[in-house]
Order: sequence, then structure tokens, then C-alpha cells
Amino acid sequence: MNPVIPIQSAQRASTPIHSEGPQIRQERGQREVFCGLTGIIWLHRKIQDAFFLVVGSRTCAHLIQSAAGVMIFAEPRFGTAIIDDRDLSGIADANEELDKVVNQLLRRRKDIKTLFLVGSCPSEVIKLDLARAAQRLNKQFNPNVRVLNYSGSGIETTFTQGEDACLSSIVESLPPIGTSETSNHKKLLIVGTLADVVEDQMMRIFKDMGLESVEFFPGRNSQKPPLIDENTYYLLAQPFLADTAKRIEDKGAIRLPAPFPLGVEGTSAWFEAAANAFEISSTVLDEALSAPRQRANTAIAKHRRLLENKKIFFFPDSQLEIPLARFLSRELGMKLTEVGVPYIHRQHLEQELKLLATDTLIMEGQHVEDQLDRCEQANPDLVVCGLGLANPLEAKGFTTKWSIELVFTPIQGFDQAGDLAELFSRPLVRKEKIAA
Ligand code: SF4
Repeated sequence: MNPVIPIQSAQRASTPIHSEGPQIRQERGQREVFCGLTGIIWLHRKIQDAFFLVVGSRTCAHLIQSAAGVMIFAEPRFGTAIIDDRDLSGIADANEELDKVVNQLLRRRKDIKTLFLVGSCPSEVIKLDLARAAQRLNKQFNPNVRVLNYSGSGIETTFTQGEDACLSSIVESLPPIGTSETSNHKKLLIVGTLADVVEDQMMRIFKDMGLESVEFFPGRNSQKPPLIDENTYYLLAQPFLADTAKRIEDKGAIRLPAPFPLGVEGTSAWFEAAANAFEISSTVLDEALSAPRQRANTAIAKHRRLLENKKIFFFPDSQLEIPLARFLSRELGMKLTEVGVPYIHRQHLEQELKLLATDTLIMEGQHVEDQLDRCEQANPDLVVCGLGLANPLEAKGFTTKWSIELVFTPIQGFDQAGDLAELFSRPLVRKEKIAA
């Protein structure tokens, strides 16, 4: 986890940058963020024949081990090649050491088909070139094992950007257009890591809609990368995939603008975007969505009774804040006091922003001290924030929800809408029980 670094040139005044729609302001200053290595936790569960080798320090190893919990019963699919004093001082050749570790690992683990070398703050500080290391190792191990690299360093990123960097490295490794197999029928690609259970539910709905050509990226099997070309239409399942989306579009794919599949409204509109692109009639769409939508509405209703009119404040952390704010305000009746977001991709979030009330205060970037002052002033019933702020805020009497839990938990789609609502009602119920 990276420390809080005071930025000397912090701009304390925030500036409005939009005159219409929700009020979006920006601020710069000291930030509280979590590094991109965290993405390994959900990526290693999804890509089941991949291994994530962090090239980093003991701090990095400690971060992912404690975030992932101890895996006693399974062979882990992540680990850390520790950069120690000998590497830092130049006594040992870090490249030779890395090659040794990779050779040992791949000799022992024949199940690994893709190896990600994941850069960290220490590997960047000693300027260890992992792209060249991946090239060198590919000469030795490809085609049995494909070696890719990306950075999970926490110096400048938010914790969800690790997934973006990882997926982006996979798309970059796909053969250039024209050199690979292409298809001339339209197909749909869902982009962003989803739990297997969510993927299976969504696949059933797509089938009910009559859509057979659907792929999920990343898939469970890294040896079957998606075929991306100008006949590919893609839907983002996560709002933090700016670089991945750009690389996908460079291959000719077309993004289908839609809200994100959180809650009943977002999920319905997300499937509707696919239906429009593939000319599926509204009758077929309604038939496919009606039962799961009904289940989701029933599951949400009991949480609405608990959450309605409660005030919520978001500190910027996961980049999921805007879709969550939309769900909580429109479907659960919560009052948004401030929606902090580390970074807003205006195009990817356009459909979401339209659904927020025009008086919603959205704060892009962070000046944590000013934001803490605003939070105290707003006196919300619930604060969504990173791990570093949760304890101090709880000590001051606020009820908090860790934003990282919203990425670790399956929350997309109709059948998860009730669970998503419960993630916000549970801390309030717990508080009431403690007070009683
Ligand atoms: S990558 Fe950087 S921020 Fe993340 S655990 Fe390692 S040293 Fe800390």
C-alpha cells in the first residue's frame, strides 16, 4: 500500500468544469489510494490457467497475501519475486534473478499457461524493464507459456487500474488485424472481470434474447483470447477500463454506450444496448428480462425501506462511485451528499451521468483533508471509502463501507442487485443493533 504523500503544489480551490447536468468539480491534493496490485485478487480467480508474479518488495508480497487471505488448500496462482538489498544495490543482476525464479516456477507448475510479470514501485524505482524480461522469457517458454507484463505500481494509480493494465496487456499481445482469423458476423464482447456466477447468469439471458455470439473478456481460459475485429461490438462491465477500451477500439471494435450493469435499471439498460445493436425486438428483450428483473425488484425492496432518505458520502477510490451513486439514489432513495471519484472517463460514464440528479455534487480527484472537512459538515449516515480512511472515520462515529469490498463481491446483474443493496444496508443495521 502506498503511503500518503503530501503534494506541495496542492490546489485547494475546486473548480466547476460543467455548467449542465450534475455538478462536476475537480480538486487536487493529498490522496488516499490503494495500489493496482490489488487487482490480482480477482484476476487470479477469473483467469484460471494464469499466474501473477509480482516483481516487488516484501511490502508488495504482504499486501497481496493479506488482501487475498491465506490459500491453504490450493496451489496459489500468484506470488512475489522479492527484490532485496542485493538487487537494489546492484550487487545481484535482477534480470538473472528473475529468470531463475521464473524457470523454477514454470518447471514445477505445468498448469500455468500465461505468466504475468507484474511491476511494482520497487521494480520501477530500480528501472527493471519487465517488457524486455517478458520478451526474453517468451523466447524460452512460448508457445507452452505466454509471458506478459504490466504495472501494478501504486504511485499514481487507483487500485482498479491494475485490472485495466492487465487486460490492456492481453489485448496488446493479440495478433494485429489482418494477420489473424477474422469473422464476418457480428459478435458481442463483454469487457471487464465478472465472477463466474455472474457470467453464467448473463449468458443465460443473452441466450434467451437469441444472442449466441457472446464472449466474456477476460475468460476463464487464457489460451482462448477473444477475437476482436471490426465486427465486434463491446459492452463494458466495469467503468475503470479506459486503456483496455482504447486498445480494443484500435482493433476496430465498437463500444455500445450503456450504463453499467448495477441494479435493476443499469442492468436492464445494459442488456437493452446489446438488444438495440443486434436488432432484437423489445418483446423478446422484455420476455428475457422480465423474470430476473422481478426477482431483483423483490430483493431490493426490503433494503429500500432501510436506506431511503439516508445520506451517503463517497470518497474517491474504486471508480465505481458514479454507477453506485446512480443505483443508490434512484433505486434505493438514498441522498447523495458528495460523490468523490478518482478519475472520470467522460465517454464511458456519459449514460450514467445523465441519470444523476442535476444537483449531485461529483468531485473528481482528491484533496483528502478538505474532503474530510466536507464529510464532517455533511454528516452522512454512511461513508464509502478506502481502508485507510475507514478506521479513523469509524472512530469519529461515522458508519463506513470499504469500497474494495464492492470489487471483491459479485455485484453485477439482476441476481446480485439484492446483495449489492445489502452491502450498504448491513453496516446501518449493525450500527442500530450495537446502539440498541
Ligand atoms: S506496488 Fe508500491 S504501493 Fe503497492 S504494495 Fe508495492 S510498494 Fe506498496
